[in-house]
Amino acid sequence: MELDAKIPSGPIDKKWDKHRFDLKLVNPANKRKYTILVVGSGLAGGSAAASLAELGYDVECFCFQDSPRRAHSIAAQGGINAAKNYQNDGDSVYRLFYDTVKGGDFRAREANVYRLSQVSANIIDQCVAQGVPFAREYGGTLANRSFGGAQVSRTFYARGQTGQQLLLGAYSALNRQIGRGKVRMHSRTEMLDLVLVDGHARGLITRDLVTGKIDRWAGDAVVLASGGYGNVFFLSTNAKGSNVTASYRCYKRGAGFANPCFTQIHPTCIPVSGGHQSKLTLMSESLRNDGRVWVPRNKADTTKPPGQVTDRYYYLEERYPSFGNLVPRDVASRAAKKVCDEGYGVGTEVDGVRNAVYLDFEDAIRRDGRKAIEDRYGNLFDMYERITGESPYEVPMRIYPAVHYTMGGLWVDYNLMSNVPGLHVLGEANFSDHGANRLGASALMQGLADGYFVIPYTIGHYLATQHTGEVTTEHPAFGQTQQEVEARITTLVNLQGDVPVDDFHRRLGRIMWDYCGMARNAQGLEHALQEIPALREEFWAKARVPGGSASELNPWLEKAGRVADFLEFAELMCHDALYRDESCGGHFREEHQNAEGEAVRRDDIFAHGAVWEYQGVGQAPKLNKEELSFEHVKLTTRSYK
Ligand SMILES: Cc1cc2nc3c(=O)[nH]c(=O)nc-3n(C[C@H](O)[C@H](O)[C@H](O)COP(=O)(O)OP(=O)(O)OC[C@H]3O[C@@H](n4cnc5c(N)ncnc54)[C@H](O)[C@@H]3O)c2cc1C
Repeated sequence: MELDAKIPSGPIDKKWDKHRFDLKLVNPANKRKYTILVVGSGLAGGSAAASLAELGYDVECFCFQDSPRRAHSIAAQGGINAAKNYQNDGDSVYRLFYDTVKGGDFRAREANVYRLSQVSANIIDQCVAQGVPFAREYGGTLANRSFGGAQVSRTFYARGQTGQQLLLGAYSALNRQIGRGKVRMHSRTEMLDLVLVDGHARGLITRDLVTGKIDRWAGDAVVLASGGYGNVFFLSTNAKGSNVTASYRCYKRGAGFANPCFTQIHPTCIPVSGGHQSKLTLMSESLRNDGRVWVPRNKADTTKPPGQVTDRYYYLEERYPSFGNLVPRDVASRAAKKVCDEGYGVGTEVDGVRNAVYLDFEDAIRRDGRKAIEDRYGNLFDMYERITGESPYEVPMRIYPAVHYTMGGLWVDYNLMSNVPGLHVLGEANFSDHGANRLGASALMQGLADGYFVIPYTIGHYLATQHTGEVTTEHPAFGQTQQEVEARITTLVNLQGDVPVDDFHRRLGRIMWDYCGMARNAQGLEHALQEIPALREEFWAKARVPGGSASELNPWLEKAGRVADFLEFAELMCHDALYRDESCGGHFREEHQNAEGEAVRRDDIFAHGAVWEYQGVGQAPKLNKEELSFEHVKLTTRSYK
């Protein structure tokens, strides 16, 4: 596998400008001759599809929901970062770049992160022009708040509904192009395979989820923006539909999968309350602007009502005085796990342990008044109260870390193209900018940067320089790929065992959480690598897919296909986690920690992206490396003290 990151030469702050000039252009009259297949219409795919159509390309866009408006992006709560420095508090493009590389524990590519910081400011202008109702100060200027891993306020937000409002903006832009006939939107349509012609990504095989019809689509390039794979853990804050199928099937066709084990565990989620749950709920990181995290200092107090506990251990403020409650997510999550493991957890006992800490607004309400807190977080407080029956205005929230985001994804170069020519990957589906830990409010920034400001330039270069001529769906590669897709569907729909598919998913999630979750070690990962193939075998022998037909709406069949892919993909994650014998960001290998329990990186061996190449189901994947060099942000031990 050849991994050329295609990082432009020259000073870091000039690379993107220079590159844009060096990129070959497609003239306006020729753009309409090209068809681009976009998988996904969340923030990354929606913004890309709209921008490419605006430029003049013809776009076929696919999503499995009934409307692009229901992509998982709509769930994003807290905000989107941008280096506008509206607060005059010392922010700059360079500082956002620095914070992001450091926050990712030095496992991201500097050039991409710098570009992300540069275009961040444009995103805000673009979204404001679309009418996104960002929060404003009394005088009308846009408001900001802080997120973890930063000492400036650079996060733009729309109460706790930032993703929804941004998606409405992208969706309006997309709809304009649907209306013009430049984007043909295929909702309730699932991409099931990538078609390669002469090694280039030239098509897709999809299934209409309502009629079951299998279709072939030919195009000049493919843009994959299919989101993250956190649901491999079964319980996560992701939308229930989020899955790995699109990117995993591209991996099986030769695309490199980079750093699949890099998972973000978000510190502020509503704790697991029992085995009945199928979903976890995030409480936005923005709450840590005003909420103070604590547990009782004495174990005897852990069962008392919080109001009666006077000796409180504000462990983040004490351990990390510079960043306090706003340390990055990986640090805050591990700290919560540590105090709970030591027996200071609060809340209801589940499986014999109390896995919760307090997030307390008492001081903020006393300082700023209830109205101010309600204005900032009202809808989040309401959501918490609806789920738990407790009002955060009266008693502290109880929170615990949960799976939230996946930094790993398909490998891409500076142009956001994978190692498969023509296959471009955007948003959470690629591995690019967050290294081993994503900073809060940076996913929306990256998805929209990719879609609005990067791919519109770079895809033209691919089309102008590498295009391989016209291909139709009559090409034998389409027939061959379709046959393989149909064979898998037939096998799935004929599974007539007696165990529901969800049972396998839940058991897989448990294995992943126990051995490849917040803390990992070699022994546990080796154990998981025994358990996952056995579970997969059991799935094919005992799973039941009710409904009996693939030629109509069959949600069990959809689920079975996704779980079958998770059962293969989980093994890849564990291989990666076992290989990466260091701790960095969200990847905490218990063997590598210092006396205070902080992560210890091994830059001499692991300062690279681990990019895996498919070798067959159950076969160990082949490792390739993209070496990372840090010319601007010095490799240091991350400290938030
Ligand atoms: C609860 C929650 C809150 C969050 N809050 C924030 C926040 O405040 N700030 C922030 O920066 N980030 C936040 N994030 C992260 C952020 O929301 C996501 O990383 C981001 O929205 C992902 O966007 P995306 O476009 O890459 O993918 P998605 O929004 O997941 O979109 C994926 C698209 O791909 C389509 N798709 C997938 N597979 C297929 C297939 N096989 N065939 C056809 N279509 C397919 C789907 O239909 C969908 O349209 C939050 C995440 C969660 C879970």
